[in-house]
Amino acid sequence: MGDRVKLETRLQSIPLHADRGISLARGEGRYLWDDRGRRYLDLMTNYGVNLLGHAHPQVTAAIDRQAALLTNAHQSFDTPARQAFLEVLAGFLPPSLSRISFANSGAEAVEAAMKYTRVATGRTGIIATHRAYHGRTFGALSATSDAKYRDPFMPMLGGAQHVPFDNLPAMAEVMNDSIAAVIIEPIQGEGGIRVPADGYLKGLRELCTAHGALLICDEIQTGFRTGAPLAFTREGIVPDILCLSKSIANGLPIGVTIVTEAISERVPKGSHGGTFSGNPLVCAAGAATLEVLADERLHSRAAEKGQRFKERVGKLGLSQIREVRGRGLLLAVELKKPATPVIKTMQERGVLVLPAGGTVIRFLPSILIEDAQLDEGVDVLAAALRQGPNPP
Ligand SMILES: *Cc1c(COP(=O)(O)O)cnc(C)c1O
Repeated sequence: MGDRVKLETRLQSIPLHADRGISLARGEGRYLWDDRGRRYLDLMTNYGVNLLGHAHPQVTAAIDRQAALLTNAHQSFDTPARQAFLEVLAGFLPPSLSRISFANSGAEAVEAAMKYTRVATGRTGIIATHRAYHGRTFGALSATSDAKYRDPFMPMLGGAQHVPFDNLPAMAEVMNDSIAAVIIEPIQGEGGIRVPADGYLKGLRELCTAHGALLICDEIQTGFRTGAPLAFTREGIVPDILCLSKSIANGLPIGVTIVTEAISERVPKGSHGGTFSGNPLVCAAGAATLEVLADERLHSRAAEKGQRFKERVGKLGLSQIREVRGRGLLLAVELKKPATPVIKTMQERGVLVLPAGGTVIRFLPSILIEDAQLDEGVDVLAAALRQGPNPP
């Protein structure tokens, strides 16, 4: 993409990622600018990280303030910043989820969750689902399903298996009293924005309870984006373990694993941790982010905007679109043809979106997106589809 001349440094990245062909220099609100001053409408927000948009004034001020005070402190010390973060996060949680540990990423938050299930249950079995994405450290990768991520690094952690998503009988068939936990995304993100039928999470909750297995909700992508702060609340269930990461500090690296008192009691002192985890800088950004997200109007707004997007895409009446789906501002348009060329054309037309599997275009806009900006995204999608080669 693009015709940028790459700066030739001696040290180059291992070619792990598809190159988007632009160098991002600055962000403000719903827009990003590349190093040549070209502006892009950001409908991907770094895979859902910048939920409040870029350089949100409250978050930026909190980072500035904290950077001048104290940037790191090991968790053997309390900090006012971590305390402030815990206070505001607690406001979103059901009472039974009362213990937390910190990490620096989503995968690390899942990693901790998987370790805790072992000590809490004395079991090792993990059931995840087809198309699940839980990160790419070895433990988390064992729960991730895509062969592209797994096959080069075999063998995976023992005891992890995958069953079809949104299929309770398939889950019931492999559930038994050796299973430590079921790990689930309430709506699958990387796997293509798959929304399960109503009752699926409730069914999983009942199945886990019946067999003494723990239910892990991985809300790393769904968190604060689906029209409610936490997606599992829609079915009135409570998981035993909740993982959050991407959006909760609006751009600074943080992951959290939140568990019940009963699980916490089984985790041996000193058995897990990390040098940077829960540092005051990310906690200050996190507290500022969550304070903004505590405004309930933002969540009803996310639900409305998502509905508007789906309706407008539906009205395009383009035969190349198979389906538009999602909830709140976790959205996808599935095509009848490969998504990558369309995503590339959209970028050339100044709109950044993401794939989620071969034929799915994913939209993860900021919760502060305006109607006109969302409509621009739909218009540019339509133009890109009309411009490209059409399937027979
Ligand atoms: C992104 C993601 C992860 C992994 O987070 P990283 O910070 O990339 O390690 C885990 N689970 C879900 C649902 C995700 O979307």
